[in-house]
Amino acid sequence: MKNAIILAIGNELVEGIIVDTNSKYVANKLLDYGFKIIAIKTLPDDLEILVPEIKESLDKADLVVTTGGLGPTNDDLTREAISLATGKKLIYNEKLGEKILKKAEEYYKEVPENVKRQGYIFEGAIVIENPVGTAPGQLLKLGNKTIIILPGPPTELQPIFQKILKYLEKDNPIYVRRIKTIGIPEAVLVEKYKKIIYSRPDITVATMASYKSGVELRFSGKYSLKNEIDKIVQKLLEKISEYVYAIDEKNIEEVLFEKLKMLGKTVSFAESCTGGLVSSIFVNVPGISKVFKGAIVAYSNEIKEKILNVKKETLQQFGAVSKECVMEMAKGVSSLFSTDYSIAISGIAGPTGGSKEKPVGTVWICAYKLESNEYLYEKFLFKGNREIIRYKAVLHSFNLLRR
Ligand code: ATP
Ligand code: MG
Repeated sequence: MKNAIILAIGNELVEGIIVDTNSKYVANKLLDYGFKIIAIKTLPDDLEILVPEIKESLDKADLVVTTGGLGPTNDDLTREAISLATGKKLIYNEKLGEKILKKAEEYYKEVPENVKRQGYIFEGAIVIENPVGTAPGQLLKLGNKTIIILPGPPTELQPIFQKILKYLEKDNPIYVRRIKTIGIPEAVLVEKYKKIIYSRPDITVATMASYKSGVELRFSGKYSLKNEIDKIVQKLLEKISEYVYAIDEKNIEEVLFEKLKMLGKTVSFAESCTGGLVSSIFVNVPGISKVFKGAIVAYSNEIKEKILNVKKETLQQFGAVSKECVMEMAKGVSSLFSTDYSIAISGIAGPTGGSKEKPVGTVWICAYKLESNEYLYEKFLFKGNREIIRYKAVLHSFNLLRR
């Protein structure tokens, strides 16, 4: 098995100003390619630190991936550091340089001279142009070692890395399947189905729980175990299909989008405690305008009444966090926006505002379907802080309409 080290470079990373998400992305992909990740490091933009770290990483690992520090300014030193660590020369590529300068004209009124720095590439490197920004990605072979150089911004890094992966040989290729669920706690899932999940010692199982995406099971093993892995996934699906929203890559908002698009249905949201988060996450999906018409953030009772037509008596008798209220909110937003479907959310995100009958974390969600005048509703009692409760409400909102 080949070893890999990821070096996330940037002062803002070591100073804790931003969190390193690039390494997570890169590591995940490399695992699928059969690499063993032996270290992930965050390093500052400092040649004295970078040069020996790069040298040492190339000694220890077959593949070193760097992210960040490819910008035009003098504090971006990754190229220079790699050159010093490997002895490889940086050469200005006229053709690439021209393209970069052209592209930079979209960003700058007057293109600064230092943008040219991004046209320097290593002797013999494979260059992957940047579809978003200007700094290209590079793959450099040094004997039996490989170094991959990627820009820092995740929106630039991800498409470049996808393309660069094709140049890596799959070493002992592995086969991976993922099952993504909502509504069953990780511990329950694993305990109840451990006989299936852990039926083969040669198949690696990883379980991950996240309030943003639910519980995921990841099965991986040598490619020769493909049939066995598929069998486990199949067996498990037979048992837990009601909780499964996706197999492999997709997230819940994409799954809901695809379902609505296939059915040719439109949707709107009435959001109270989520304050627009449902909409905000939904519009991350490209092409969403085909199904999403809009949303109302009805945080106060006044707006629930005035805009969504929730009855005063409903609010007085049952309160805003109630089945009755979310049903009226859902119906109200569906007629306001003339959508086939709608989702309404009302709850107590805390830390204050809870009571004995309705503790913090109580959230009512209702999905409404105009065609059948059908209301699907559910009451949840989410654990966690304000952020966790709100994200869980989003997850379950999408899931309620998906089912
Ligand atoms: P730029 O041309 O934008 O300067 P760069 O390759 O020099 O690109 P950096 O300057 O290191 O990249 O980082 C630019 C921005 O990209 C950072 O401010 C940050 O928002 C994001 N970023 C950098 N590294 C990471 C990382 N490891 N994880 C997540 N985001 C990152
Ligand atoms: Mg930079």
